[in-house]
Amino acid sequence: MNSKTIIIGGGFAGRQACRALRNAHTEIVLFDPCSSVVMLPALPDLAGGWLAEKLLYYPLKKLLPANVRYIQKAVSSIDLDARTLTADGELFAFGNLLIAAGSVTDFHGFDQHREKVYHLDSLETALRIRADFGAYLLKTEQPHVVMAGGGYTGLELALSLYYRAQTAGKSCRVTVVDPAPDILPFLPEAKRQYIKRFLARTGVTVFSGLRVTGFDGKNVTAAEKKFENVFFCWAGGSTFAVPEVKGAVKRTRDGRLKVNSDLSLPEYPDIFAAGDAAAFEHNGQILRKAINFAWYEGKCAGKNIAHRLCGEKTKPFRPFDAGWVIPLHTDSVGQLFSLLWIKGNTGLRLHYFMCGFRNYCFTNFAGFARLAAKLFKKEAHHDD
Ligand SMILES: Cc1cc2nc3c(=O)[nH]c(=O)nc-3n(C[C@H](O)[C@H](O)[C@H](O)COP(=O)(O)OP(=O)(O)OC[C@H]3O[C@@H](n4cnc5c(N)ncnc54)[C@H](O)[C@@H]3O)c2cc1C
Repeated sequence: MNSKTIIIGGGFAGRQACRALRNAHTEIVLFDPCSSVVMLPALPDLAGGWLAEKLLYYPLKKLLPANVRYIQKAVSSIDLDARTLTADGELFAFGNLLIAAGSVTDFHGFDQHREKVYHLDSLETALRIRADFGAYLLKTEQPHVVMAGGGYTGLELALSLYYRAQTAGKSCRVTVVDPAPDILPFLPEAKRQYIKRFLARTGVTVFSGLRVTGFDGKNVTAAEKKFENVFFCWAGGSTFAVPEVKGAVKRTRDGRLKVNSDLSLPEYPDIFAAGDAAAFEHNGQILRKAINFAWYEGKCAGKNIAHRLCGEKTKPFRPFDAGWVIPLHTDSVGQLFSLLWIKGNTGLRLHYFMCGFRNYCFTNFAGFARLAAKLFKKEAHHDD
């Protein structure tokens, strides 16, 4: 064996690539700072205290083929021309590379009292919200959640916290602030209005076209508005997870690497990107960040690395869009196969079924399948 393939990130894309490469003639090395894999779509429910955390994660090593060498380190820099990467100050050389490091919260430079701003992109951040929101509810007579960002993560988290407060017997104000002219711009008007009516009924106030400008650790300012003694969460989007990439790459506004149809980088035929790290264009649009695409992109990129190792031609990635759901705790909006609109419990059930189907072991699958059947009971599951 004379080649070394490095995979950065052992999430949905990275793990599928490891599996696709397991019989290839190459040494496989996987870098990931996190020793557990996490079902990210269920994080809002975990943060609200509705799920036990054991349902969401599983040891990464147990899911890797035996011939994968796992190094528990974060990659801080990639040099595409020198064919090296840096992790924990150490330099590693690669022959082939797959970049599948997912994405992290983008604060867009907002760093006022960052240690007191809650965000949601990992198991740790969800557990922190769960614990701190519980404590905030105990000591606050009139709780108020202010959410910067009216995308799906912001809305899902806002609703999860709202219902948690309700089960604790507290009436909780929720304010969503977003600089865009409207929330969820990718939705057709009728579906957006459906969600807005649901939010209004629930008592969630949305300020579109408004940007959070200040946070002093307790109070939030957005232009001339001031919200006092709030639980402040940031869900203003996500960005590429590796701090530095040197080389001739093209990127989207959110930092994703533009890829060819076979998922290789345009100037580097043996360097690939998949999942949230990749910007794959299909029918004139960049694919959204989703588990389904990450899963099959990872598989395709892994196979293409194997093809290259054998001197064969790589194959194009052909995405299949099974659909999406925005789960809002007691309601939902979604679309199946780009055709069929769904809402309410149907969407919620499909969402939790997907969390089980794409999970890592039978116990986790069974837990989510049970949830898909019963949905949430009135009592939250606060195991903090
Ligand atoms: C709150 C939330 C809700 C979501 N809801 C949905 C949903 O309902 N449906 C849906 O389809 N998708 C949803 N998504 C998006 C979906 O989770 C992602 O698209 C998917 O996880 C991308 O897979 P990936 O393999 O690219 O990245 P990930 O699954 O994020 O895996 C990336 C891996 O790389 C590792 N890593 C990060 N930085 C480094 C580094 N510097 N060096 C080495 N390793 C690194 C991470 O530890 C992680 O293990 C949601 C995401 C979030 C955050």
